[in-house]
Amino acid sequence: MLTDSHCHLKDSSYGKSPKEIVEDGKKQDVSLFINIATSLNDSYVSSDICGEISEVFGTVGIYPHSDLGQDISSVSSLLEKIIDCNRKIVGIGECGIDLSDNKPARELKEQKELFVSHIELSLKKDKVLVIHNRNADEVVLDILSGYVGRGLRAVAHCFSSDWEIAKKFLDLGIYISFSGMITYPSRHGLREVVKNVPDDMFLIETDSPWLPPQGHRGELNYPKYVKIVAEKVSQVKEKPYLTVASLSTENACRLFKINL
Ligand SMILES: [Zn+2]
Repeated sequence: MLTDSHCHLKDSSYGKSPKEIVEDGKKQDVSLFINIATSLNDSYVSSDICGEISEVFGTVGIYPHSDLGQDISSVSSLLEKIIDCNRKIVGIGECGIDLSDNKPARELKEQKELFVSHIELSLKKDKVLVIHNRNADEVVLDILSGYVGRGLRAVAHCFSSDWEIAKKFLDLGIYISFSGMITYPSRHGLREVVKNVPDDMFLIETDSPWLPPQGHRGELNYPKYVKIVAEKVSQVKEKPYLTVASLSTENACRLFKINL
């Protein structure tokens, strides 16, 4: 049994409904899906999908470059209301810091304020922080290190840095989540992280519809391809596929506090 710990089931690029995408995933042994929000509107959608499909749990939150339309504290209280109305909301995010050049930039100072508001909400509501980090290892680690000992539960989604950085996240008690990127031939450093990460500290994900695994590059990604990520983890860690599949679900359920 596999878990896709990070997917965007209602993305506009899909010509299929979330229900159809989930059914396709179930045929490939994916039994648990965490639907990730990127904006306020998307957070309402995430809550709706959780209500419609039993295998889907979700998050609420604002991506570093999504428009807010209002001030941060108003958005935060709206997110809180969604959480209070739906027990299947298990996380806050995706949120974090994005310093890639090709985005309509929100100033770093404002990105930090938005990230901190999500961290505070995560602590207040005891929900998992789903961290988006692009080219911002030092900034993200610096902010997170201010919350040591406060019971923060968090995952570094679509981890793409090296083992030295992974160790710093793990030292903060933060889970590492692997996407299809680990299947890309050039990502040797990432496979070193796969090899070394403790068995109880990793998740797997697709980040669909983005980041399709090797063999599907240039296509849309789907949660069913999390199987390809699990197969790669199995190969790199030299552990049976079924062990990795079970770990993917056990670890996700422990982190997100989901009782199946
Ligand atoms: Zn995502």
